[in-house]
Amino acid sequence: MRVLQASDIVKDFNGLRALDKVSIAVDQGDFFGFFGPNGAGKSTLIRILTGQLEPTSGSAEVLGVDVVKNPLKVKELIGIVPEVESPPSYLTGYEYLYFVGKVRKLDNLEDRIEKWLSFFDLESKKGTICKDMSKGMRQKIMLASAFIHEPKLLFLDEPFINLDPIYQRTLRDYLEEYVGKGGTVFMASHILEISERLCNRLAIVNLGKVVARGSMDELLKGGESLEQLFMRSVGVLPGKGE
Ligand code: ADP
Repeated sequence: MRVLQASDIVKDFNGLRALDKVSIAVDQGDFFGFFGPNGAGKSTLIRILTGQLEPTSGSAEVLGVDVVKNPLKVKELIGIVPEVESPPSYLTGYEYLYFVGKVRKLDNLEDRIEKWLSFFDLESKKGTICKDMSKGMRQKIMLASAFIHEPKLLFLDEPFINLDPIYQRTLRDYLEEYVGKGGTVFMASHILEISERLCNRLAIVNLGKVVARGSMDELLKGGESLEQLFMRSVGVLPGKGE
């Protein structure tokens, strides 16, 4: 079942074409990797697909909802961890998750919060305000806030960043289990080694255009690593992608 379809998305910022007719399709159960150099347009596409930014032209449906016509409904359905955002400085992790849960009108909210604080081993930091947490702890709170309503589709922008190897592994295991149970992940990441292991399908963008796309197995069947495919697709090694 198709859970995401972006068709010919264009986004212009004051004369700069950040996305140039990008089309992407993601099916339920996919662990979809979205790769590209800095400035390629990854965050811009994620913002469009999650109802935070209007495209200049093109259309996108996420879980059957038109993201341009109904951005609030999309936000309700999905979970998202944006790259640069942190939880509010003067709330504790517990308070932030409580706030997110109230906005999402979740039942059994206290139990859900306890579950995620325990999952990320943050119970002892319950009373610490986010400003006084390490970057990794804030990242864990952001991840918990995306997972707490058990969405069918997760958008993750650099989810492994700031996490130590132990929690990179914990998160990897969790995401694999989530996808195994029918969830879908759309992930932008520069950590190609982890991504190669996790993702079954991918697209690589460069300068706002899709330069490679397909299943991981198909694209790497010649024996290349994802890193080599990436370098070649963005023109760092000889030979071009799509
Ligand atoms: P990535 O996430 O792949 O690093 P971005 O989507 O953040 O890339 O950016 C794509 C391009 O669009 C870059 O050239 C960036 O400078 C530009 N851009 C992104 N957001 C804005 C904005 N709000 N205003 C102007 N330019 C922007």
